[in-house]
Amino acid sequence: MTLHREDFMSVDEVELFERSVAGFLDAHASPEAIERWRENKMVDREVWSEAGRAGLLGVSVPQAYGGGGGDFRHEVVIIREVAHRGADALAISLHNAVVLPYFTAFATEEQKRRWLPRLCSGELVSAIAMTEPGAGSDLQSMRCTAKKVDGGYRLNGQKTFISNGQLADLVLVAAKTNPEAGSRGLSLFIVETDGCEGFERGRNLEKLGQEGQDTSELFFEDVFAPDENLLGGAEGKGLPQLMAKLPQERLVIAWQAISMIERALAETIAYVKERKMFGRTLADFQNTQFKLAEYKTEATIASVFCGHCTKLLLGGELDATAASMAKYWVSERATSIIDGCLQMFGGYGYMLEYPIARLYRDARIHRIYGGANEVMRMLIARSL
Ligand SMILES: Cc1cc2nc3c(=O)[nH]c(=O)nc-3n(C[C@H](O)[C@H](O)[C@H](O)COP(=O)(O)OP(=O)(O)OC[C@H]3O[C@@H](n4cnc5c(N)ncnc54)[C@H](O)[C@@H]3O)c2cc1C
Repeated sequence: MTLHREDFMSVDEVELFERSVAGFLDAHASPEAIERWRENKMVDREVWSEAGRAGLLGVSVPQAYGGGGGDFRHEVVIIREVAHRGADALAISLHNAVVLPYFTAFATEEQKRRWLPRLCSGELVSAIAMTEPGAGSDLQSMRCTAKKVDGGYRLNGQKTFISNGQLADLVLVAAKTNPEAGSRGLSLFIVETDGCEGFERGRNLEKLGQEGQDTSELFFEDVFAPDENLLGGAEGKGLPQLMAKLPQERLVIAWQAISMIERALAETIAYVKERKMFGRTLADFQNTQFKLAEYKTEATIASVFCGHCTKLLLGGELDATAASMAKYWVSERATSIIDGCLQMFGGYGYMLEYPIARLYRDARIHRIYGGANEVMRMLIARSL
């Protein structure tokens, strides 16, 4: 179920892409595959290579660097199709729409030529490592350091909760190049994990939901990052780089939340029409109709606002305020609507074999990662 479709999504080329993404996911993200990912606590590495071959990776990276030459509309297609199938463990949107934009926006020409083609082909799966055990919402209190040495930097520190942490071949690591310089002391480093001395992956963390997504601790002990691996080639740009790209990450999360609401509503509407009680179906009760009418209204409003933010993003005008509004409001609608939908399933809603129970667990994280919703409110308040 798609609640609202913006005009800019209804163009032949985007619709064609939508069909190709749907075909890919039908073939490679079947319910059996999703179950296997859950059991293994990560997706099959081969799916990433297949996704690269099918042209799903780097869809909004210019063709000159091996990408699809598309834009954020194509990323929205992937987010939706993935979420509508409950295949969220396959974190293509993290790779495509969160990590790769740092390369397209800030990498030097040499860095783009060196890494983007391999990131688009599926040779390299990416992750971004900002969060540390003592620094989540307050990123500036980060302790991971990058000390200048001959020809490069030595990275030391620990990261946690890193999505794609087990699978990642390339990690964009935030570290302090000058701990005394405050907001000008942070830099982003490109770290290839294969054969990287001093780099270690920690546990694949047990989570409340999204169990098929690998989320890990990462350790860096005197990891050498050559000068060429400093994103953009200049020190101290990390914080402005993050500030510039976090709004897009937040819009990605809002779209994920919308897509989960759409799936929850579709599942619930089908269920209440089937479930019989007191000589009627559950759908015949006014309470059911009114609740679902409210959910559909709220979800449509959320979807329209995400469309508005997407238009702003496409025009280069999405700011921290609008992105924070989308992320916090839509993710909170998602958890409340999914909770209400689950109630209509009764005891079956509590059983993990029903998608609504999975959605209930999977959607909760959206209020926390990408910046906790309290941080979103703080950012919005700054604009008052
Ligand atoms: C499944 C998962 C995947 C993740 N993936 C990644 C990843 O790929 N890369 C990465 O770098 N990080 C990732 N994270 C980390 C995530 O972004 C952080 O968990 C999040 O930013 C919150 O930081 P924290 O957990 O340290 O909580 P804290 O910073 O300790 O915050 C705890 C709580 O304090 C409250 N709070 C925070 N700030 C304020 C405020 N200003 N005013 C009032 N209350 C406040 C909020 O309720 C917040 O939830 C992931 C996390 C999870 C759980």
